[in-house]
Amino acid sequence: MAALRSSAIRDLLAVASQPDVIGLAGGLPDPNLVPVERIRNAVDAALGVPAALQYTETTGVARLREVVAARESARCRRPVDASQVVVTHGSQQALSLLAQALVDPGATVVIEEPAYTGVLQVLRSSEARIVTVPLDTDGMRVDVLADLLASGERPVLVHTVSTFHNPRGVTLSADRRRALAELAERYGFLVVEDDPYGELYHTTAPPESVAVQSNRVIRLSSASKTLAPALRVGWLVADPKVCTAVELLKQGADLCGSQLTHLVAADLLADESWFAAHLAGLRAEYGSRAGALREAVDRELAGAAVLGRIDGGMFGWLEFVDDTDTDALLSAALAEGVAFVPGSAFAVDGGQRHSARLCFTTNTPDRLRDAVARLAAAHSR
Ligand code: PMP
Repeated sequence: MAALRSSAIRDLLAVASQPDVIGLAGGLPDPNLVPVERIRNAVDAALGVPAALQYTETTGVARLREVVAARESARCRRPVDASQVVVTHGSQQALSLLAQALVDPGATVVIEEPAYTGVLQVLRSSEARIVTVPLDTDGMRVDVLADLLASGERPVLVHTVSTFHNPRGVTLSADRRRALAELAERYGFLVVEDDPYGELYHTTAPPESVAVQSNRVIRLSSASKTLAPALRVGWLVADPKVCTAVELLKQGADLCGSQLTHLVAADLLADESWFAAHLAGLRAEYGSRAGALREAVDRELAGAAVLGRIDGGMFGWLEFVDDTDTDALLSAALAEGVAFVPGSAFAVDGGQRHSARLCFTTNTPDRLRDAVARLAAAHSR
């Protein structure tokens, strides 16, 4: 119990949910862009399947695993069989089950800093020995990882949010993807490529998956950001040995997922022309929101803070260059009616105190401009 900590973001969301506060703190799709009518049709169709309300296989409904396997075959540029896919209760459950399967207490695991808080929660409860590697504008500093390995570190796995990082927004460059795959081959660790945001690029598709370069990559993705978080449909793609271990652990965790939402997700993901048009709509809308956020930050916070490059995903990383402590700024910001997540929430051992994660997906461009004006007012208090 001593190792368990609440996610600062989940705590903050409770405070920031008052209607007069503009929320830049969450990391969710805009409810207005969730395809409600298409989901309603899919639910109706699924209810016509006699087993829809029954228990299903622990690894997920076969139809969904097939659809995911086809999509992942394109990502990995090799045939992925449905037997290499386990559908989980969101990709967060995949992280949790993988940690149970692969990480003994005291085992070394490498993660990126600033870190995705969900992986920190999982690894802290596994009592892993967490080693961090910093990020820069090209994603994980794979050269720092190489130095750690050369100096004797032997991680069982390296976790990376390779594309449109949460919280940092950055994407691992193609060269670094290759270098990471080479290190995995050479030192024998597994890479967990946690990729819920890769489809949400604005104009240009991100570099190919790390899995194209190596079989030592476990891929994680999710329907949460492209369809709806409430489906709780995520998945992992791994070799059969890892899939079997995860399946056995999942039997103990929840017996199986929801056949109903698996059928709904399979219907939507298999409807290729509809899904492509849906993604195109999200890309255009989120792209224009990210653009509005950038303009507003450049105008309102010029000289005080710099917003990192945003090519997709849900987040922009704001770095204050004038020593502003973002934990302190948050109270002033809430008083002005805007919420964000201070960088310290993503720090592993303290730090990140002059930065903040801004989510641009849930507000229109006008609201985003208003949010940044409020942030600037809080900053100049
Ligand atoms: N990985 C990353 C990097 C995330 O940002 C999230 C959602 N915040 C998840 C995994 C988990 O998402 P879900 O369980 O909804 O698939």
